[in-house]
Amino acid sequence: MNTAVRLLYKRENMEKWGKNFISWAQRKIAAHGYTCDGCGVELFDYPTYRLCENCTAKLRRIGDKVCAKCGRKTVAEGICLDCKQDMPKFTQGLSPFVYQGESAEFVNRLKNGDPRLANYLGEQMAEHFVKKFPDMTGVGDPLLIVPVPMTDKGRRLRGYNQTEYLAKMFAERLRSLGVQAVVDKKLLQKTKETAAQKKMSQKERKENVAGAYHVHKRKECRGKTILLIDDVLTTGATGNECAERLFGAGAHEVYFLVAAAVPERK
Ligand SMILES: [Zn+2]
Ligand SMILES: [Zn+2]
Repeated sequence: MNTAVRLLYKRENMEKWGKNFISWAQRKIAAHGYTCDGCGVELFDYPTYRLCENCTAKLRRIGDKVCAKCGRKTVAEGICLDCKQDMPKFTQGLSPFVYQGESAEFVNRLKNGDPRLANYLGEQMAEHFVKKFPDMTGVGDPLLIVPVPMTDKGRRLRGYNQTEYLAKMFAERLRSLGVQAVVDKKLLQKTKETAAQKKMSQKERKENVAGAYHVHKRKECRGKTILLIDDVLTTGATGNECAERLFGAGAHEVYFLVAAAVPERK
């Protein structure tokens, strides 16, 4: 081989090694989560940003016009129609996002095989909570965070409970903001299987969840402020039922915090 050919051969090899190295590094980075949790595109400032601009744009923020009771987006100021018809038992509801259109599809993925979306949604719930309830984040007892439970069978079928992931991320973000918080996954239990609620009316949902939840650790509830965590607020039937149980066990206040809330009907 003459010198020129040898050099060319070397350069080709180097390019090949270079490319191999870059694709190896990309795989390593992707494995460590430097990608958008929503769509997987590269995100170099992960986890400061967990979603890319496209995925963030799909999510609709709740805005300022919300129901003073359940926290859903309302048409006018004041209490929403659902709450007027049947006032929920929980102290107050809160949600950073509106459950509608593409925004709803995104949140649905959380329970349909994409638990990683709880990273972003749980953190956003915590930031929204701190902004809306600054008085509750001072020093005192740690906030008691309770995810809405599933039955053992339901959990086995899905493989995970998305509200536990939300609660974990919610608490982690609170702690990083200097707020003391503990998660108790066992405080509340779901002991009765409930039917899918998608097409049910407010009244049917209420009957469907009646008696489905049980406070396992009653002593832990007494006098406590509890932050109940769920993925979506539709009619508020689940939050209402759980809150009733928790109050029955002596809880002082029960806040119902969700990732997204269905807006008021027009
Ligand atoms: Zn994305
Ligand atoms: Zn309401």
